Amino acid sequence: MDFYIISAIVNAITSLVLGLLVLSQGKTKKINILFFLFTLAIVFWSLSYFFWQISITAAQALSWSRILMVGAIFIPVLYFHFIVIFLNIKNNFLVYLAYILAFVFLFLDFTSYFVVDVSQKLDFKFWPSAGPAYSVFLLIWLFYTVYTVYLLYRGFSAEKGIKRKQLMYILIGTIIGYAGGATNYFLWYNILIPPIGNVLESVYVLLVAFAILRYHMFNIKVIATELFIFAVWIAILVEVFTAETATKIMFEAGLLVVVVSFGVLIIKSVTKEIETREEIEKLAKKLKTANNRLRELDQQKSEFVSIASHQLRSPLTAIKGYASMILDGSFGDIAEEIKSPVNKIMESSKRLVYIVEDFLNVTRIEQGRMQYDFVDVDVKELFKDVISNISPTIKESGLDVNFDTDKGLAYVVSADKGKIRQVFSNLLDNAIKYTPSGSVDVKISEDVSAKKIIISVKDSGIGMSKDFINNKIFGKFNRGGNARDLHTDGSGVGLYVASEIVKSHNGKIWVESDGENNGSTFFVEFPAI
Ligand code: ADP
Repeated sequence: MDFYIISAIVNAITSLVLGLLVLSQGKTKKINILFFLFTLAIVFWSLSYFFWQISITAAQALSWSRILMVGAIFIPVLYFHFIVIFLNIKNNFLVYLAYILAFVFLFLDFTSYFVVDVSQKLDFKFWPSAGPAYSVFLLIWLFYTVYTVYLLYRGFSAEKGIKRKQLMYILIGTIIGYAGGATNYFLWYNILIPPIGNVLESVYVLLVAFAILRYHMFNIKVIATELFIFAVWIAILVEVFTAETATKIMFEAGLLVVVVSFGVLIIKSVTKEIETREEIEKLAKKLKTANNRLRELDQQKSEFVSIASHQLRSPLTAIKGYASMILDGSFGDIAEEIKSPVNKIMESSKRLVYIVEDFLNVTRIEQGRMQYDFVDVDVKELFKDVISNISPTIKESGLDVNFDTDKGLAYVVSADKGKIRQVFSNLLDNAIKYTPSGSVDVKISEDVSAKKIIISVKDSGIGMSKDFINNKIFGKFNRGGNARDLHTDGSGVGLYVASEIVKSHNGKIWVESDGENNGSTFFVEFPAI
């Protein structure tokens, strides 16, 4: 059987199957119905093409070529209408005009103004010749074709996401289809170019059908698989039709059944994959939105804490300053019984200043605004200084605080002195605060082979549970239950700030404890220089 006859069969079957498929996916949707009508026009055209090619007499061939033109007239009109709806273009008068013109040409089609007669051209025994009305039809056809492609391209450029991808497929399909279909028109004017592009109609319908069906066509590989399977089916189907012996027909038909069954299975699993992926994509999108919202809230919270802390700072400084001036006698002598409460005011406001400073540090860390000024620091000297600064508190606590280090050596690290002082103060403060009685041992040593300087602060205090160590201790605003019982005031941010500072020094901070009431040891490790 000749190539053109086969391509006519392939086009008819492909278009019918795809048209029905699209219709079955949305029987009431205008767009699906229009696509179905469009594929019917192609089926009509292809079948007439088939009968025209196998015609025996010239009269038969002439009739079929006229019938064929009914399909050819309606293909561009229905397709244009389909595209206008797909692109959501409202009230396009060119759609109405196209239908009116189609009916005019339909009438002319059965006169000799359209198809004059048929004669031998190239290998075709009966090829039609164009009459004057046919040329007008062709010009109008050309206009609608170019306009359709233009609309598609405009839509494609303006759209984003899935719709853009769909339009890309439709655009490619349309260009392939029209270019293929156009190869039919040369012979009408005795230009000796054969209609080799005919079979491309199937590719065209396939691409457009996929664009409609696969609304979420993000995986080109998946679509390629489906196209391939479909092509194999059609190829074997054609083999069945063209087989010459009964055995061959049986064999091809058997093969078709097997291939179709496997194909269906593959397509099913592919569809499942698409669905799963779509689901995952949807969830990921939701998660992203939730994440963004959380980030926003976190930022708002940081801003709030920052503003509130700044607002607290000035009045606190005033309270602290005036309390100190009252105690100094700047406002004259004060009675002995006033001294103690004013002292308490001053101590409390001092504590508050520290807390506010810690809050400000938290927001600085979160907003990435913490600034470091690295210099060489001897941590042994620095820690000694920290101890001597709080010697009144140590004395008041009644604890035995020991400082153990190799006296002759310096332990130098690259650090921001003020920030590291803050870390050491926090560790020592905590050790004293959470140790009702006993001792605190501070030790500084060097692991020479690992080039690390290790500071440890060991106390015999209230200790902590493994769970608290593992999950919460260096987190923001976290306080242990036993710590809360012992000291109701405490912000739970000191260790968070300390750990962020140590991290910024490429160091490590951790804690060990044998459980509640068994004391704890905090470790800080810095790279030695
Ligand atoms: P705060 O001391 O203000 O509560 P920190 O961030 O300094 O905040 O400490 C967080 C928590 O870690 C404390 O509330 C306490 O539960 C626990 N903690 C810190 N140091 C010690 C320690 N030396 N012994 C026992 N628990 C401690």
